[in-house]
Amino acid sequence: MKPDVYFIPIKDQEPDDVIAKKLKRVLIEKEFLNFIEEKDFVAVKTHFGENKSKGYVRPVIFRMLADLIKKRKALPFLTETSTLYRGRRSNAVDHLELAYDHGFTYDKVKMPIIMADGILGDNEVSVKIKGKIYKEVNIALEIVKVQSMVVVSHFTGHIVAGFGAALKNLGMGCSSRMGKLIQHSTAQPSVKKDKCTGCKECERWCPTGAIKVKEGKAEIDENVCIGCGECLAVCRFDAIYYNWGETYENLQKKIVEHAMGVMELKKDKIIFINFLNRITKECDCMNKYEKITEDIGVLISYDPVAIDSASFELVEEKSGKELKDMSFDIPNRVQLDYSEELNFGSKDYNLIDITSVF
Ligand code: SF4
Ligand code: SF4
Repeated sequence: MKPDVYFIPIKDQEPDDVIAKKLKRVLIEKEFLNFIEEKDFVAVKTHFGENKSKGYVRPVIFRMLADLIKKRKALPFLTETSTLYRGRRSNAVDHLELAYDHGFTYDKVKMPIIMADGILGDNEVSVKIKGKIYKEVNIALEIVKVQSMVVVSHFTGHIVAGFGAALKNLGMGCSSRMGKLIQHSTAQPSVKKDKCTGCKECERWCPTGAIKVKEGKAEIDENVCIGCGECLAVCRFDAIYYNWGETYENLQKKIVEHAMGVMELKKDKIIFINFLNRITKECDCMNKYEKITEDIGVLISYDPVAIDSASFELVEEKSGKELKDMSFDIPNRVQLDYSEELNFGSKDYNLIDITSVF
């Protein structure tokens, strides 16, 4: 049977407090949060956005979720993990400062923030899975410990994953630093020397010191590079390239297998909410904001594959363009195809337009 994906349409630039009210009504009327039991610790997983990104889901949404979860006599907290990238989210202290700057303070969201992977991203548990690449994956400790999860994801294009939404929020976003390193490990870039200007921007942002400018040209030490893609993102001269044919597919498959690790733990104690507004060319880890289409709506489902499949198809249908033409021209459905190959979730879904509730 195809899983249900509920769709709440929104207008372009609809205010976040109006969206919060609509979402609240649907969550209550459809009893979506009834899997949360009294005394459950509930990890509300999101992404606070990098310094100048503006696409992230806003605090008013989380305040509403905190109210609903507390009404079930459970214990909600907002959670995230550290990134591999430099920038303001590479350790818990800087990351929390950024979250506060973006309005995720207790008075606004009415729940504390607890980083899932500790101060440096190394609090983790190895979780057994039935993957084709891995038999176990490294998941952030507090994700493993809690009873329930509400995974709130912002749909974006993505430079390596094709798109980012629930699967990426689970697979990359809930893994420890080691889990993230393992996922990135085979995706290594190269430098086009004729295009490199020696500007050193890549050197400044590389998280491992793998790329250095020598005699006016960037060079990458393959033994140190973790394939994070930061140099590709910051190079303004198209001097960095990936062998996508080998790399995008591996990375997207690894994201799926790490997502399986979280689902293995939570099974029927997890729900996904995808926001299809402020949709950007690049993910919220990037220090920029480039909206690529009008706002579309909010989706809810218990199946991370079905909700991502529906999100992807709605973005293409409503914009009238293929995502690869608005974001990056790479094969971008590997997360969905590979999930189905592993019998992990369903690419097919019943889309239930919930306009009638309002
Ligand atoms: S950012 Fe690009 S142009 Fe600048 S040094 Fe690095 S590879 Fe060369
Ligand atoms: S060289 Fe590029 S891909 Fe490799 S670690 Fe540095 S920034 Fe990341």
